[in-house]
Amino acid sequence: MICLVLSGSTIEENLKLVETNYRYIDIVELRVDKLNAEQQKRAKEFPALIDLPAILTIRRQSDGGSFSSSEKNRHALLEEALDGDFAYVDLEDDLKKVSIEQKAKEKNIKIIRSRHDFKGVPDDIFHLILKIASKGEIPKIATMPQGVDDLITLFRVKEELAQVENKIVVGMGEYGQPTRILYKKIGSLLTYCSSDNLSLGQVSAKRMKELYRADKIDDNTRIYGIIGNPVIHSFSPLIHNPGFQFIKFNAVYLPLTVDSVRSFFILAQLLQISGFSVTVPHKQAVLPYLGKITREVKQIGSCNTVVRTKTFWSGTNTDYYGFIAPLEQMLEEKRIKSALVVGAGGAARAVVWALRNHRCKVVIINRNLERAKNLAAETMATADSIKNASLYEDVDLIVQTTSVGMMSEEDPIADFNFNENHVVYELIYRPKYTTMMKRAKAANASLLFGIDMLIKQGFLQFEAFSGYHYPKRLKIEFDLEED
Ligand code: NAP
Repeated sequence: MICLVLSGSTIEENLKLVETNYRYIDIVELRVDKLNAEQQKRAKEFPALIDLPAILTIRRQSDGGSFSSSEKNRHALLEEALDGDFAYVDLEDDLKKVSIEQKAKEKNIKIIRSRHDFKGVPDDIFHLILKIASKGEIPKIATMPQGVDDLITLFRVKEELAQVENKIVVGMGEYGQPTRILYKKIGSLLTYCSSDNLSLGQVSAKRMKELYRADKIDDNTRIYGIIGNPVIHSFSPLIHNPGFQFIKFNAVYLPLTVDSVRSFFILAQLLQISGFSVTVPHKQAVLPYLGKITREVKQIGSCNTVVRTKTFWSGTNTDYYGFIAPLEQMLEEKRIKSALVVGAGGAARAVVWALRNHRCKVVIINRNLERAKNLAAETMATADSIKNASLYEDVDLIVQTTSVGMMSEEDPIADFNFNENHVVYELIYRPKYTTMMKRAKAANASLLFGIDMLIKQGFLQFEAFSGYHYPKRLKIEFDLEED
């Protein structure tokens, strides 16, 4: 079940939230602690006002809630609210109040017995779940995994505790997000969503239902993802999930925040992950785990796409192909013979190797000259300081690979004069028009955009993952300025 957490300050506000999210959800949790004091007394009315099952929760501050009055008052409020036709009531595992439990039982309201741990996964998590379940209550463990190792413990719950049919397990924070999306793979009865003010790792009800189709995930669903850190705002799920849905491929693609690549490969085995994209800072760290790599991965020294084969993991680099795709014809026809590459970081490595493999002459300019020289030595290119950009205005192609212009209006090569013969390729995709690209456009240069490279490399990953071309009729929608 997809559960919407209702954190409105009035009953009316919460009814509106139910209305807007109705088609995405199966159940709601009324957070009475978030209601205004005078509205809290109306909690019992709530279940009759909606046609979805509701969970009653009054969370105290020590468990991440907002209820600040005494425990006595909380118990009284719980007892009063139980007059309403709630389907479940969430009681913390240290709350022992016979009258509340008695009333819930009489009214056939199921008890969810919860433990919250913001420091990490409790050592005795399996025992805790069994102990609660043995009393006929639904165990709920909400914890904050501190890394992939904690995530592994959580995902082991399904096979270790298969006998406990109804249990709720939720990982909070960015490391915990996969437990929300893959709640069925963890064996959790439900997953919690919000509608706005999402805290780190939370997923909106709309995305949970429409993008991840979390409630449709079954034993045959293939799991794909993107590993990185940070990675939660990656665009890649917006490319792959709609593609999978369009071709009716039973698969899900999700962000996976990874601190240790070694631990991730253990998780990948446990979850039988079929393939994954790799982003900063793990593009080099995955290499020792790969049984086969392409020539480009070997040259560049970094891998952004990994696919499971029967016996090993196989790595490729679609940044390389995504970058070169719009240039290939011009390179072949010798319309582009020389290039100025601005920057000498990770992206520049793929760019320079791709151009050199296509026999294009390359000058690499960088702030750190040493770095440019090292890359030039490897690739048989030339190196210079970024300050000397204007010495190279006779090149055919300019590729901008630094991060300058992403967060500011800065232009990394402000002295460089563009003209209509130049092809200008900006790797930054947000914003689409950097200051440098605005200047190149004003000079009537031909423009190539980072967003098209990002999409192309995504399409190539899609092929590597699914074996199918990305559906041509599918329009990818993401707002570059907003995420
Ligand atoms: P990286 O390895 O960290 O390299 C950063 C580069 O930017 C280095 O050359 C660095 O120069 C330079 N730089 C940073 N701050 C600078 C400053 N203030 N002044 C001058 N130069 C500066 O990063 P990366 O992975 O190569 O990524 C670079 C950019 O490419 C990012 O914006 C990324 O989003 C984009 N990218 C786009 C795609 C796509 O599909 N469109 C794919 C990959 C990357 P120093 O060596 O002197 O530090």
